Amino acid sequence: MHKSPKVLIIGLDGATWKLLNPWIQEGKLPWFRKIRRQWFSSTLKSTLPPLTGPAWVSFQTGVNPGKHGILDFIHYTEDRLFNLVSPDDNPYPTIWQWLEKGGKKCVVVNMPMTYPIQKGKSVIVSSLMTPPGRQYAWPNSVFEQLKSIEYQVDLEKMTFGIPEESMRKRDKLYKQALSMARKRKLAAVMLLEKEWDFFFVLFKSTDITQHLFWNEDETLKLYQLLEKYVQQIINHAQKKYGENVFIIICSDHGFDRGETSAFCLYRWLEAEGYLKEESPQPYNLLRMGYQLLKTIVPAIAKKGTIEETRKRLTKREGQERLVFMRRRAKAWPTPFGVYVNDLSSLKEIKRKLEQLRYKKKKVFKRVYEKQEVYSGENLDSIPDLVFLPERWVKIESNPTQEKIWKKKRGYLKGNHNSDPNGILVIKPVRDIVIKKMKQCNIMDIFPTVVEVLQEPIPPYCDGKSLIVRRKEATEMSGRQQKRVETKIKEEIRRL
Ligand SMILES: [Zn+2]
Repeated sequence: MHKSPKVLIIGLDGATWKLLNPWIQEGKLPWFRKIRRQWFSSTLKSTLPPLTGPAWVSFQTGVNPGKHGILDFIHYTEDRLFNLVSPDDNPYPTIWQWLEKGGKKCVVVNMPMTYPIQKGKSVIVSSLMTPPGRQYAWPNSVFEQLKSIEYQVDLEKMTFGIPEESMRKRDKLYKQALSMARKRKLAAVMLLEKEWDFFFVLFKSTDITQHLFWNEDETLKLYQLLEKYVQQIINHAQKKYGENVFIIICSDHGFDRGETSAFCLYRWLEAEGYLKEESPQPYNLLRMGYQLLKTIVPAIAKKGTIEETRKRLTKREGQERLVFMRRRAKAWPTPFGVYVNDLSSLKEIKRKLEQLRYKKKKVFKRVYEKQEVYSGENLDSIPDLVFLPERWVKIESNPTQEKIWKKKRGYLKGNHNSDPNGILVIKPVRDIVIKKMKQCNIMDIFPTVVEVLQEPIPPYCDGKSLIVRRKEATEMSGRQQKRVETKIKEEIRRL
């Protein structure tokens, strides 16, 4: 039997061919040009909504949000309203937890949705939503190592809490994004020295920079820098393990120009008679929830820690009022869909949203009933209607604006609420052939990696392995199959 290959994944958050292709054609990104030609390349379809949180969880688990139940950085269900998502909310094993069981060694750097870290055998460095001053890496020795290079988990202090403010400080934020990327590369190079079968590192600076500069020189400069960093990382990996490294470069969602108008779904539902009159207290709570969301995402708490903010938010009385109000409503908004209490209104609301026009332009690309998109035991927690908005429209789910429509001025230059198409580039190893597909799915990464590393693919997986043929098939034995089934039953019981 051949020695199992190693898998190296480099994530470029929010990277899109929309930007890269023209720069490649103009000869501005020679290395990307080379790998686009010589390696397998495709688009990688994200989750709905195409957001960093659910996308990386589907990446980690190989399952759709109907199973893992995570749609954003916070919860929108009645019982967990505005609670932050933690790794414990995901009932499925992550790729490194799955591989650990087969004795594989994993290093995972800056994976979103890993704080607080679940301490196991793998090396984990957490990502955004890690409060300042906390332990962002496991084991302790790695934490100490990273402190010595003044590693940066995410943007410090400044966030997109108020996008207009972030735009004013964008040069400062850009500097931070550059230094973050450099530290990330240093950390990766350092940790590549360890023994590993699976190595993951995410560069988040691409997402930050595209939000602030979209298709401007700053973004191109960052990619030119990343060309060098990514090559250095690959060189280090190959110096250690030779050509036996299966390389994946991918992003978690697409990106597009920023929105120019804001549609207040809350006000719209109110105007259409699906929401009961509001009272001031829940109104404030909603505003706070909105602020929390905007402050911690995509960076970290501005003042005080996330927990403090959360304590303020989860004041029982206000929370109960809000839940009461929500129960009385026929429909309740979220940024990516609508909970419909009165199911007889479901088709009507769907049709109205599908037909909705503003200045003669369609507002939503698609509106789905949740069963059309998701499946699994967490389907109940998902809004009954989910949508993908058009590029120019920002969906506001809280009553932060008085009118249904508002012009967005000085808003983020780029955003990704409307674009699920990320990038995927793969350099396989000998004996492994990749399916020729124009579009792959973010859920396909888990089974692909597991197959490359000759571990069994769990049967609950929604993604499909991208490998078509290899010389030594890794069919699961009866005993392995049984082991997997018992494990899944256990996982489901834990729900
Ligand atoms: Zn992202």
